[in-house]
Amino acid sequence: MTTRKQIVIIGANFGGLTAALRLRGDDDVIVIDPSPHFEFLPNIHELLSGVKSPEQLRLSRQRLLQRAGHRFIQDAVVELNPADGFVQTHSGESIQFDICVVAVGGVNNTFGVPGADEFSFPFKSVDQCHAIGNTLREKFAHQEQVTIGIVGGGLEGVESLGEILRRYRDTPGLTVHLIDSSDQLLSGLPARLGQAVQRRCRNYPVNFHTGTRVQAVTETAIELTSGENLPVDITIWTGGATAPDFLFESGLAPEADSWAPVHQTLQSRFFDNVFVIGDAAELPQPLSKQAYFASDMGECVAENIARFIQNEQLSDFQPSTNLSLISLGDLDTYLVIGNTVVAGTALSAVKEFVYQFNMARYEPPLSLLSFVDLQIRFWRGVIELGLPNWLSPRSLLRLGYIRPISF
Ligand SMILES: Cc1cc2nc3c(=O)[nH]c(=O)nc-3n(C[C@H](O)[C@H](O)[C@H](O)COP(=O)(O)OP(=O)(O)OC[C@H]3O[C@@H](n4cnc5c(N)ncnc54)[C@H](O)[C@@H]3O)c2cc1C
Repeated sequence: MTTRKQIVIIGANFGGLTAALRLRGDDDVIVIDPSPHFEFLPNIHELLSGVKSPEQLRLSRQRLLQRAGHRFIQDAVVELNPADGFVQTHSGESIQFDICVVAVGGVNNTFGVPGADEFSFPFKSVDQCHAIGNTLREKFAHQEQVTIGIVGGGLEGVESLGEILRRYRDTPGLTVHLIDSSDQLLSGLPARLGQAVQRRCRNYPVNFHTGTRVQAVTETAIELTSGENLPVDITIWTGGATAPDFLFESGLAPEADSWAPVHQTLQSRFFDNVFVIGDAAELPQPLSKQAYFASDMGECVAENIARFIQNEQLSDFQPSTNLSLISLGDLDTYLVIGNTVVAGTALSAVKEFVYQFNMARYEPPLSLLSFVDLQIRFWRGVIELGLPNWLSPRSLLRLGYIRPISF
């Protein structure tokens, strides 16, 4: 007779939730996260223009985990003790485990820039992006001139720029400053992609400041190391993520601000009974921090937990092809696979499909509530994203135009 094992999963977004939903009822699975909702982060920039609402990007963790036969605790883990096999939650509950999965993601990084925490809007959750969207709407309703500073020209910075242009490019008084410390936008991806984004924005009031760092942020300005002082009405900080203190404090990371090193099997390098997945994990060959890697790791870890319990050899995590779909509002969408870049507004339908498909994958429409939610998401997508194209002959023509972005 085999005894049931107790499995604790810390963090229930792409990595942790996928792992939980893949684990069947042979063991006791407890999932802990301080927030009641799974959040589909790759589309949160759309909250800035309002083409998505917070409800469309969230799923109830309680509903999903209950359906899978697991227990959900809405709380934060404040202590993980792998040697003694227990976690302690913020509200004081102590929970024993045989196996723990750590899927806590990353935290916003303002690199100690003076004023950044106080005066800029972070860009890491549905609530934060919804707050930016509301602030923008308020400013445009009451001011004739609105100047927006976006710190960071990576994926999040470019996608937020696109949503601002989608909604406000025809509104008089708009100015955007986008700042990135590297010499190109979307660094890490082919350089011609960043150039294509800049070209696409040249008819709009967007100023790109590359190769310069933010030195300080105040309520009304962004100071650059180049000596420039940019007056702004709102600063959006998309400048990066770092490892949560939790990883170092639990002994899963060798030093502060470092991700947790894992074997290719996703098992912690320091504790056999702990697996680390998603953004929090650092594989022997580090991967970019992407939702689809986190979710694939969740699948792999569920399989490896079964093997671990049966004393079988664990399998290696095999990352899928690295690809990115980056939208610039309704102006363009770029698909990057390795060194190949293609662009076209029709690709926005692919991005929307990825979102719709994954939301339905996490919560299949097996109950009336889930079915209604899926219908709302689908029809809102049709109305907000499809309809504007079908009603404008120019946009409709542009839909057929998918092109390679070459040197
Ligand atoms: C704005 C934005 C746009 C993005 N766009 C894309 C994209 O287009 N494509 C793509 O593939 N990826 C994209 N990403 C990256 C992607 O969202 C991440 O790689 C993915 O979310 C990582 O999943 P995760 O499960 O590791 O961590 P997360 O999704 O960050 O989830 C971590 C979870 O852990 C919980 N947690 C944290 N600390 C504790 C604790 N102490 N106790 C309990 N729970 C805790 C948190 O509440 C959270 O729910 C984007 C990210 C952002 C922020």
